[in-house]
Amino acid sequence: MPELPEVESVRRTLEPRLLGARVTAATLRRPDILSTPPGEPRASTNRRLLVGGRITTLCRQGKQLAMLTHDGRACIVQLGMTGSLRWSSEPPAGDPSHHVHCIWTLGRGRGCLWFADPRRFGGLTSLRETSLPTHWAALGPDALSISGAHLRHTLELSRRAVKASLLDQRTLAGVGNIYADEALFVAKLSPHAPCCSLPPAAWENLAQAIRSILTQAVAAGGSTLRDYRDGEGNAGRYQARHNVYGRAGLPCPACGSPLSSGLLAQRTTVWCSACQG
Ligand SMILES: [Zn+2]
Repeated sequence: MPELPEVESVRRTLEPRLLGARVTAATLRRPDILSTPPGEPRASTNRRLLVGGRITTLCRQGKQLAMLTHDGRACIVQLGMTGSLRWSSEPPAGDPSHHVHCIWTLGRGRGCLWFADPRRFGGLTSLRETSLPTHWAALGPDALSISGAHLRHTLELSRRAVKASLLDQRTLAGVGNIYADEALFVAKLSPHAPCCSLPPAAWENLAQAIRSILTQAVAAGGSTLRDYRDGEGNAGRYQARHNVYGRAGLPCPACGSPLSSGLLAQRTTVWCSACQG
């Protein structure tokens, strides 16, 4: 499932393709993937899909990406579990194309952009650019710049396990199962520790581990476990550097003990019982 580093890699690879391009047409094959929040204009599908607009900004909050046009429209793309947002010079063809739910054509021969999502947990949201900050206010601060003070202030009284809290997008936006496990390993914290049991100094240490892991993962183009690809179809490289995620039973890279695994917040969790005490 794409987390912050994967979505940021999509954003960075698409930016040079999309900025300044005019959307000349859009084909929506599955109307149920496009939603409009209450209070937003009931515009035509073409208008909601930015047709006629020139793309001026591609921005991100946590795992959500938004395309903004010169005339104040916004379209949020959520990749969900299996979604991808990809640029190509020609419209996608062949077998995988039945999972392509929306295709945008860019003017002056700048190719096309398409959204595919086999399991359809992702989707598109149309809204005015001025509504975007309110819409994203439901999310916590972006995890790439999370502070220890914010984590402490938000979580220090909570009895929830620290890993479950990191997965809550209202607390911080962008961390999912892979990077929660990786950050907790670096911070030497047990994923099961109740937030209220952590000493005050642990929060800055944890925030630093999150920022550092995410920054390195973005630089490596994210992690490709199954089907994740960036905006130009390239796989990520960070999976080769995972310390714990997907390594249950293998030796801990720090102490050599076999890594433990179990379910936490319904997600497979991997940690070192010796290092993360
Ligand atoms: Zn260890």
